[in-house]
Amino acid sequence: MDTFDHVIVGGGIMGASIAYHLMQKGARSVLLLERNELASAASCQAAGLVLQASTKPSKTPLAKLTIDTLLHLEEELAESVGYHMVGSLRIAASEKCAIELDAMAKDAASRNIPIEWPDLSDIRQMVPWLDISNIQKTAFLPSDGYIDPYLLTISYANAARARGAVIRTRTNVCGVVKDAEKVVGVLTDHGPIACGTVIDACGVWAALFAEKVGYSLPMAPVRSHYWIIQPDRTYGGEHPVTILPDVAAYTRPEVGGLVLGVQEANSVTFNARNLPEDLSGFSPTLGEEHWDILANAYEDLSQFFPAIENAHFSSYICGLSSYTPDGEILLGPVPGISGFYVAAGDCGSGITLSAGIGDAIADLALEQTPQFNMEPFRPDRFGPVDPHGDHFRELCAAARASKSRQIISHS
Ligand SMILES: Cc1cc2nc3c(=O)[nH]c(=O)nc-3n(C[C@H](O)[C@H](O)[C@H](O)COP(=O)(O)OP(=O)(O)OC[C@H]3O[C@@H](n4cnc5c(N)ncnc54)[C@H](O)[C@@H]3O)c2cc1C
Repeated sequence: MDTFDHVIVGGGIMGASIAYHLMQKGARSVLLLERNELASAASCQAAGLVLQASTKPSKTPLAKLTIDTLLHLEEELAESVGYHMVGSLRIAASEKCAIELDAMAKDAASRNIPIEWPDLSDIRQMVPWLDISNIQKTAFLPSDGYIDPYLLTISYANAARARGAVIRTRTNVCGVVKDAEKVVGVLTDHGPIACGTVIDACGVWAALFAEKVGYSLPMAPVRSHYWIIQPDRTYGGEHPVTILPDVAAYTRPEVGGLVLGVQEANSVTFNARNLPEDLSGFSPTLGEEHWDILANAYEDLSQFFPAIENAHFSSYICGLSSYTPDGEILLGPVPGISGFYVAAGDCGSGITLSAGIGDAIADLALEQTPQFNMEPFRPDRFGPVDPHGDHFRELCAAARASKSRQIISHS
């Protein structure tokens, strides 16, 4: 029988980053199993924003590590991972958002994240198409930016493989083998594999996978989406990501056009049990509903973005992220089952947090102490839950909706 020290289930950005970090920290044998192709679910749909500072400071050190890791990865692979370090403008128009921005800036500064306070003429130069007449306060974080999430996932996987990790796609993991309360292997559609640790990095299916060891993970799939405005001289060229919490929106450059994320006041949630195993033919949005969502946001958006009415949209991208009721990720061991770890409940930040997540889980699996405070991420922090029940899913959707109006927003 095949034997590995560590088996990672799920070949999205989390699984790939964990594989890389395990090898980098000296793991002897690592196997990554993916039932479809690498980066074929949420990790190819993300808008790719990489924003370090947040109103949830627990995540900031994980995000900061991602920026540092991108530079190491480029050196290691001797090729670009496609990071656009264009900076982010966090724009506050209301008193509430200005107060949040001050708190976020204070926290960022305490963690040595560069932060600047551009004046109106600087902002006009950076994003001339934005109407800034009503803004109160704007911070600029020059080391933030955006990245192709598919390319970053493949880069982590390539770097892991180069260091000796084994990656098998088209392999479904259908069971976990335990000896008493200790994980000793997995069952796949290609046969059993013996191992010492199993890491659940199954994205929106992570709760279903954890059920194989009898544990209910507190997370639910929630819809995220954005639109792409076709190339136009108005937006052409590189400019910072803009975060507009007053209207729950963000933008970033997209080859001469613009990605526009508009987030919903009432997020739509799904029961993981009803999701297909391959999301390629699945859409969380019905028919042309997304045009109504956008049209409803026009009035709000036009206060910052007067040209919105005339914008030509070329695409609409939607997918699922996993949310928890408190908007924090799920990272760590599952109580009572030795050797089973979870990296899930991404709360729409899996690209930004990818290196921090990989680093922390690799330390835990190697029985080392992570460099981060892991308490806020404990998978057991809500006590027993039914992740598929309507009430629990509504709590997760509410966490998604409230994130939209905070000074940071990813998906
Ligand atoms: C529209 C949208 C925009 C977003 N924008 C951003 C953004 O700007 N910035 C940001 O940081 N984040 C963003 N996100 C969130 C980000 O995409 C996710 O946090 C991240 O991709 C999650 O990665 P993952 O590896 O956990 O999951 P996934 O990429 O979904 O990977 C999980 C994998 O596990 C596999 N799997 C599941 N069960 C099994 C099994 N039993 N056996 C084998 N394989 C299995 C699946 O096939 C899948 O490939 C966005 C998300 C969406 C939907």
